[in-house]
Amino acid sequence: MLRWLLALILLVTMAVGGAYVAAGRAVAPVISIDRPERLVGQQGDLQVSVTAPAGSLLELTIALEQNGASIPLFSLDAPQSATITQPDADIVRVVRPFGKAGVPELAQGAATVKVTATRSSFLNLRNRSAEASKEVRVRLEPPRIAVLSTHHYVNHGGSEMVVYRATPADVHSGVRVGDLEYAGFPAGGAGAANTDPSLKVAFFALLHDQDLKTPIVAFARDEAGNEARSSSFIDNVFPRPFKRSRIQIDDRFLERVVPEILEHSPEITTAGGALIDDFLKENGELRRLNAEKIASLTAATSPARFWEGAFAQLGNSQVEASFADHRTYIYKGKDVDQQTHLGFDLAVTSAVPLAASNNGVIVNASWLGIYGNCVVIDHGMGVASLYGHLSSIDVKVGDRVTKGQILGRSGMTGLAGGDHLHFTMLVGGHPVNPVEWWDGHWIQDRVERKLSEAGAATARP
Ligand SMILES: [Zn+2]
Repeated sequence: MLRWLLALILLVTMAVGGAYVAAGRAVAPVISIDRPERLVGQQGDLQVSVTAPAGSLLELTIALEQNGASIPLFSLDAPQSATITQPDADIVRVVRPFGKAGVPELAQGAATVKVTATRSSFLNLRNRSAEASKEVRVRLEPPRIAVLSTHHYVNHGGSEMVVYRATPADVHSGVRVGDLEYAGFPAGGAGAANTDPSLKVAFFALLHDQDLKTPIVAFARDEAGNEARSSSFIDNVFPRPFKRSRIQIDDRFLERVVPEILEHSPEITTAGGALIDDFLKENGELRRLNAEKIASLTAATSPARFWEGAFAQLGNSQVEASFADHRTYIYKGKDVDQQTHLGFDLAVTSAVPLAASNNGVIVNASWLGIYGNCVVIDHGMGVASLYGHLSSIDVKVGDRVTKGQILGRSGMTGLAGGDHLHFTMLVGGHPVNPVEWWDGHWIQDRVERKLSEAGAATARP
């Protein structure tokens, strides 16, 4: 009888102990401090996600430690102004206003967000806790920006450049034209004598399809979302008349170009109907997709300026089409499409060697939709050039090229009626009028003058 009782006691002890050990192995909650990323400003919010089975938590507290004090931000008993959601069965998410607006005690400088979460496991035999913390930086002063260069003139469809000072030096800055932003780069990378890191340059454009009254400002924005804006610094904006042209297309042209472009362009699908329908798809949808691709190819531009002096135009060439020509396409006597031609068409003879218009790095050297065999050069600081319809390509992606170096030969690949070079200048990934970039006086006045004036102006104490 006693042996039987002892055996029972042993069994019960083992069972309870085993359960206790099993409970001990149960996972602790997993804490993720999702926001802020690093900087805290005037506005913004705090987001913390905690993963625990069934989202059941005994305790969840969030506090901010700064200058030796602890500011409570959240606890399950006193949620304050927080919103609690359960985006997933096992996730509890807390969001509350942060930044000076949400936490008035916040002071400039370093701070730490601390989170503690506890869940129960196996009949509360053993609770499992986890802690997480994140170093953040409170930046309450907005960045500052001051335009230094003078005489800024913008042609519709054309480019401009500005020299400015943005502080602190690591702040994201540039120029905003309407809702488009052009990044600024350290002026030292442009060859300015003064290499103060807060001195910046930005190339920007007023696109052919933007209104002449589009606001243009320089801005500086920190990670906390604080933003400073310059007042308007543009002296004048000039309208530029764009041409209109009518292009006749026939079946011979469609038979030559449409199937080949389709073959190289998996990004569009064909219904397998009439060639004219596929042509319209290429001229419209594919043209738009190509513009997006070109913008993304040139987005990772070098912060240093590779180019110098005027860009070279294809020598002895005849201009067949110019920038922002408005084209109406006619097929069998009917208007079937309208597009804007965002480059220059330059013709010499067949398979003429094509030279790099300036120094840079090759970012595309392959078929690119309606542009056929196409080379794109990044010249740095958001400036790029594109060469379309080539019959052959002599360079590859990553090659450093110098002005005058042969890129390949002209041809009629892609959407081309005959052998010619389609040349596009790009600023911030957007097509701009190349005529300015071909003009040595324009480069001298709009770029070099501003760099040397800024260098001279800032050299004084
Ligand atoms: Zn063209």
